Amino acid sequence: QRLTSVNADSVERAAEAALRPKGLGEFVGQASVCDQLSLVLEAAQGRGRVPDHVLLSGPPGLGKTTLAMIIASELGSPLRLTSGPAVQHAGDLAAILSSLEEGEVLFVDEIHRMARAAEEMLYVAMEDFRVDVVVGKGPGATAIPLEIPAFTLVGATTRSGLLPAPLRDRFGFTGHLDFYSSDDLVHVLHRSAKLLGIEATARGTEEIATRSRGTPRIANRLLRRVRDWAQVRGEGIVDQKAAKAALAVYEVDMRGLDRLDRGVLEILCTRFGGGPVGLNTLAVSVGEEPETVETVAEPFLVREGFISRTPRGRIATAAAWKHLGLNPERGDNP
Ligand code: ATP
Repeated sequence: QRLTSVNADSVERAAEAALRPKGLGEFVGQASVCDQLSLVLEAAQGRGRVPDHVLLSGPPGLGKTTLAMIIASELGSPLRLTSGPAVQHAGDLAAILSSLEEGEVLFVDEIHRMARAAEEMLYVAMEDFRVDVVVGKGPGATAIPLEIPAFTLVGATTRSGLLPAPLRDRFGFTGHLDFYSSDDLVHVLHRSAKLLGIEATARGTEEIATRSRGTPRIANRLLRRVRDWAQVRGEGIVDQKAAKAALAVYEVDMRGLDRLDRGVLEILCTRFGGGPVGLNTLAVSVGEEPETVETVAEPFLVREGFISRTPRGRIATAAAWKHLGLNPERGDNP
């Protein structure tokens, strides 16, 4: 018998790809970003030029990659995907830029993590559609200018504050994606359920939507987990009962907080008396990278009013203590 190892990450990616909206009309929510973007695209098409470079910022899973794909498809242009961490040398970027086709859309995910030397090359490419290839080393080195086809850069970042100003300034349009409302997530879930052939009730999708941290990626993932529960232990229908039971199994609480979120809050309250505590100390205490805590857990906890960020560090709010069932006066331990 042949054993096949299944890469969980690639399974997730494939499941996501199947649910990606293909055009702006199918993209749920983010109305003002979509409206602004469609103007940028339509105007450029009308002029017969490539659109300005686009920067998309916002927490993970809100649809940045999806929007980049939609931009390319609305323009009828090819799309090239790469990411900041994959571009560690200027040469990596030169290879990509010099092989672009006219009008191609280049998507750079996590653009804030690109190497410094590559960033400088990108400035020139974005502004003048030119790459300066440096030949030789030391004082004898010369830069040979190489013209490249006009392209549109779509950069995505979870932390636009980290982008150097010269890079930020070269984007003609910046769209900030915000967490989705529950109504929008219900919409996303209905669409996904239909595509996946899942029978779901209104109560079922509402229950999932309110616990999805305002994030379509999480909503779609929870829908698949609730479907599993419904299939194995329920009636095969994604209803409220199935949603509640499955989300209890996966430790997603009533407000949508998962293990990491609750871990952050618990450590903050019980070990540091509610703070203030610095990001690095907090991250080490929960056993996570500071970037994960800052970009994955924190934006949602701040938005929900569980944490506030101050110059001296993170502080747990009264709502956080209450949510954990703790009393700050008693110096509670769970
Ligand atoms: P990351 O930065 O972590 O890669 P992202 O912001 O690029 O995240 P996407 O990969 O674009 O997020 O989206 C995640 C999933 O959520 C996709 O499978 C997509 O189908 C779904 N999704 C995102 N936005 C929407 C939307 N507005 N309408 C419907 N589905 C959406």
